[in-house]
Amino acid sequence: MNNKDLINNASSQNSFLIVGFGMTGKAIARFLDNKNLFYYVVDKTDIIEKTGPGFKKQLSEKAAHELLASSQITSVFPSPGVSLQHPVVTTAAKHMIPIIGELELASFYLLGDFIAVTGTNGKSTTAMLINALLEDAGMANRLCGNIGEPLINAVNEPPTPFYVIEESSYQLELVGSLTHRIAICLNVTEDHFDRYNNIQEYALAKQNIIKNSDQNHWFIFNDDDPYCQRMSWDSHTQNIPYSLVKIYDQGSYSQQDELIIKIKDKTFIFQLSECALTGLHNHENMLASLTTVLLINSTPEAIESYKRTLKTFTGLNHRMQKVHSHKGVFYYDDSKATNVGAVIMALASFDKPIILIAGGKEKNCDFSPLKGLIKNKVKKLILLGDAKEKMAKLFKDDAEIILVKDMKEAVSQASKEACEGDVVLLSPACASFDQYKNFEERGYDFQQCVKNI
Ligand code: ADP
Repeated sequence: MNNKDLINNASSQNSFLIVGFGMTGKAIARFLDNKNLFYYVVDKTDIIEKTGPGFKKQLSEKAAHELLASSQITSVFPSPGVSLQHPVVTTAAKHMIPIIGELELASFYLLGDFIAVTGTNGKSTTAMLINALLEDAGMANRLCGNIGEPLINAVNEPPTPFYVIEESSYQLELVGSLTHRIAICLNVTEDHFDRYNNIQEYALAKQNIIKNSDQNHWFIFNDDDPYCQRMSWDSHTQNIPYSLVKIYDQGSYSQQDELIIKIKDKTFIFQLSECALTGLHNHENMLASLTTVLLINSTPEAIESYKRTLKTFTGLNHRMQKVHSHKGVFYYDDSKATNVGAVIMALASFDKPIILIAGGKEKNCDFSPLKGLIKNKVKKLILLGDAKEKMAKLFKDDAEIILVKDMKEAVSQASKEACEGDVVLLSPACASFDQYKNFEERGYDFQQCVKNI
């Protein structure tokens, strides 16, 4: 019996095990409740919220091992935040109990086409832009996955022809039969080394985005990124490359002030001056998004609508967001830049002197790829958080460094140092958890400190 039949044929005699009771775990629980099925939960913190009718019990890890050994569990649903090396998951594997991811589970029930976006950076922006482009042009779709709500929630909602899904490498670790009509890989750069041993392992997880794709499916990939490129060599899909440096007969690229998309033997041109999104990274995101929507609909009316959307779509908060200008100095909040790849793109996007505020909780990644850009573009490097000493040591010959205790001091120092024409950029290359709940809180703190100067 395949995994889909396993779920479809389940009855009140079956029990499931949800590992991790965050947003995804709870969504799976609701799905099982709606199907009148029963489930246990393993989570490191006690469940305090009201649970649904199918909830049997919260189990300790030890109790979960015993239950898995006694063949009473039909299948296990780990949350994306739970590593496949988690002892409960490895025990399930040892007992040959199917381990099913939430996207996979949802795919058993949803009939619309899946448009999946992965990459180290730019997933949310790109998924959101595709969602807006489709919606504004009258193509119903639902935005799901990492960006907002779990895809499994859509199972109990009216169907829609397209599901635009932001997919992290964690989610992609558990691809069984999940198939995407259009898969996008934006980039693969160092991140999440708390979960992966090396970048190859991380890239392999991302590659699952095209695991089941064939000639009926499309793979849109960043041809300037060696890992994305390598994925395209192994794919069985129709591949469409995009690039900021190459040009193609069939593919998408930027040239001077234009985004050029050549697909299906046609050429579509969009003027960058008429796009609200700025920055080189966003040129890439727009190329990937436009290629996607033009594959779906390239009628003249749709193209006019895409142009209107590009004029107004300004992106998401805390991603290279211009938050203030004061005495000719521009302040940018890029708090979501929690890894080196995102900071490289941010620094590369400015041709003005930069006062960079960086640091926070590091993720065991190598900061040295930033050295060249810091040397050439950063006038003052203001460092805060757990990683500040390590970063100061590494960049000591590349920029003038100021160590500070918190964001208030960082912004106050930055404003003192800045002259007309400079950019003050918060782009930390680190996670926020040493001083904040999340990157949003860090970004808002920066914005507040900027307002106060
Ligand atoms: P994700 O959802 O993958 O984390 P976001 O759209 O939230 O991506 O952006 C995260 C960070 O990466 C921000 O700092 C943003 O400015 C930067 N970024 C966005 N798109 C790209 C890209 N294509 N390449 C590199 N960095 C990017």
